[in-house]
Amino acid sequence: MHEASIVRSLYEAAEAARTQHGLDSVELVKIQVGTLQHVVDEVMHTYFSFEAEQWPAFAGARLVIERLPARLLCLDCGHETELDDPVFACDACDSRNTRLLSGMELDLVSMNGTAPD
Ligand SMILES: [Zn+2]
Repeated sequence: MHEASIVRSLYEAAEAARTQHGLDSVELVKIQVGTLQHVVDEVMHTYFSFEAEQWPAFAGARLVIERLPARLLCLDCGHETELDDPVFACDACDSRNTRLLSGMELDLVSMNGTAPD
């Protein structure tokens, strides 16, 4: 399943960040996911809890998913369109000569945890 490998790389990135920031344990992991990413939040949460067993510092950690809108830049008129559905056309001039500005993000944003005394 798609989400399983995403969650695994998320843990790898989060573990690297945890080590870098010298956190003993992590309570909260926040990520931003573009609306065009085909991931199901519910499935992400399930895999996040499941995979936590492999990462002792993340026992009981909570995953927060923030969704980012998809934005399209029209290369003909310069207008920026926010996509509600996957129709890649400019709102202003109907051109399909566009570039995707956002919507495919899947980034680790922040983590809360406890540092050693
Ligand atoms: Zn346009």
